[in-house]
Amino acid sequence: MDIFGMPDFDDHELVVFGSDASSGLKAIVAIHSSALGPAAGGCRMWPYRSTAEAVTDALRLSRGMSYKNAMAGLPFGGGKAVIIADPRTAKSPALLAAFGRMVDSLGGRYITAEDVGTTTADMEQVARATQHVSGLGRRHGEAGGDPAPKTALGVLLGIKAAVRFKLGGTGLDGVEVAVQGVGGVGYHLCRLLAAEGARLRVADVRQCAAERVREELGATIVPPGSVLAEDVDVIAPCALGGILNSQSLPYLRARVVAGAANNQLGTDADGHALHQTGVLYAPDYVINAGGIISVAREHLGGVTEAQVTAEIHAIPARLTEIFERARREQLPTSVVADAFARDRLRSARQRLVA
Ligand code: NAD
Repeated sequence: MDIFGMPDFDDHELVVFGSDASSGLKAIVAIHSSALGPAAGGCRMWPYRSTAEAVTDALRLSRGMSYKNAMAGLPFGGGKAVIIADPRTAKSPALLAAFGRMVDSLGGRYITAEDVGTTTADMEQVARATQHVSGLGRRHGEAGGDPAPKTALGVLLGIKAAVRFKLGGTGLDGVEVAVQGVGGVGYHLCRLLAAEGARLRVADVRQCAAERVREELGATIVPPGSVLAEDVDVIAPCALGGILNSQSLPYLRARVVAGAANNQLGTDADGHALHQTGVLYAPDYVINAGGIISVAREHLGGVTEAQVTAEIHAIPARLTEIFERARREQLPTSVVADAFARDRLRSARQRLVA
């Protein structure tokens, strides 16, 4: 495998492969940049079909974390871990301990946390083998714990900013939102949206997850295969990445796309295509930073829950700055966000070498 020649290789500082035969661990840690500090980003457990697919995900996700941490103003670089395994069948204390030892061997260059396929309880297991882990159970009033509700809060505030910018009005009362994926983040987001008076349509490949939101919040369930084509005001992707692509974009009817999923755009060209159609896209790594803000502050310590919440409330202003510059310069919001993030990384790198 020619990692240096892969399309998603972007001068990553380090890519490490780890395995442990007795627990079945097969993992990759990618550190994209440590210009702003140690690389922080979650650990995804997923039954990748090939090693190449897992490496691609680690490369893309770790770069996304560099951009996300830079845009959130956090003193952390970007990294990500992927474990090649089905979280429903392959997870064990031995495997999580082996992953913890792998993280520990990096001596603090990479700090892990939960992501798709891993939980707060899993990170407690990882923490037995390394201190370089966050997103653990928290003590009363302190920052930290499960990042999903924090991510959901940031996404809610981001949706409000995007709706205000694109559709006018001051709130979400009566605004129709289709949420793709109602797992950790999507479920909490639906609760927050419902409390603001939004009308919900939800889709999940796990029928029981969608049923729960229908029963608790009165949401309408729509098929996972066509949720992106729903005739709503806002699409909130909260499942997996790559869903905004040449197949889905022609069917998109919403005027705003704003959700939690990482790497929503299939390619950079899809960001341009979205822009051409007049859809306002809230760049994923800006709107979904609530969780990493919480994880980062938990790791640094000495910060209260209220301070984390205040930091999450800065997300909509950051998004509005991007929306305004994109409108002024007639550019896709994804391009503007990337330019902001790269500027911050470049300045940090220059300070390091000066
Ligand atoms: P999760 O695994 O808890 O939930 C994802 C949900 O999406 C699940 O219910 C799953 O069944 C559903 N799903 C999967 N494929 C689907 C499809 N094709 N159509 C409809 N539903 C589908 O994950 P999560 O923690 O809620 O994260 C959701 C997304 O947000 C991920 O892309 C993740 O990387 C991103 N994200 C999460 C956090 C966080 O704090 N958890 C932070 C930033 C970004």
